[in-house]
Amino acid sequence: MEIDTDIRDTARWLGVGRLDPAVRDAMNSVPRHEFVPRWEQPHSYENRPLSIGQGQTISQPYIVAAMTQMLRPRPDMRVLEIGTGCGYQAAVLAQCVAEVWSIERIPELAEAAAARLKRLGYDNIHVKIADGALGWPEHAPYDGILVTAAAAKIPGILVDQLAPGGRMVIPVGVGRYEQVLTLVTKNAEGIATEDRGLPVAFVPLITDIA
Ligand code: SAH
Repeated sequence: MEIDTDIRDTARWLGVGRLDPAVRDAMNSVPRHEFVPRWEQPHSYENRPLSIGQGQTISQPYIVAAMTQMLRPRPDMRVLEIGTGCGYQAAVLAQCVAEVWSIERIPELAEAAAARLKRLGYDNIHVKIADGALGWPEHAPYDGILVTAAAAKIPGILVDQLAPGGRMVIPVGVGRYEQVLTLVTKNAEGIATEDRGLPVAFVPLITDIA
């Protein structure tokens, strides 16, 4: 698979040299063509980002795989995603962990994603329409938080909602070409540390929260 080569080439940024079999199985089994608009369907299995409408994009499969892997998913984990988009990343996560909560600010995208995920039989993904920078306190803390839009800075509320031992993966940076994928880890004592890694280009996280 092409993404294996990309993962190997960027291992020094990602901190992982090869895909976990569970992540690989998820990448192989989630039908990407079901998540993109009709005009993008012929390109569903190309390793590049695609349009999902509303000016938003779905990441290239390699980035989805890498971000999922950086969370070190386990079958008992509870994960929060910010930026549901079309629901593809949520579906990949849902194959690897116990429960996924996903927040999207654009109602049309959230509603379409929720309906699509239900139709495809994912019953462990919960979608809500809100500003994801506020997190989803009712179900916190999370073992993993995955942010799929670029934040100017790491939202403190999300760090607060991370469980001890938890991991958050978030693109940080203002300009589209000045973002780095950042890993936040919280130790057993609740102290969070940051590791900055792979250069990425995500749509912005739009929030009123400073
Ligand atoms: N994970 C998605 C990719 C989404 S693109 C997928 O697999 O399709 C990023 C998404 O983040 C967009 O849909 C955008 O509307 C959403 N977004 C941006 N700012 C947000 C915020 N503050 N809260 C929730 N969603 C946000």
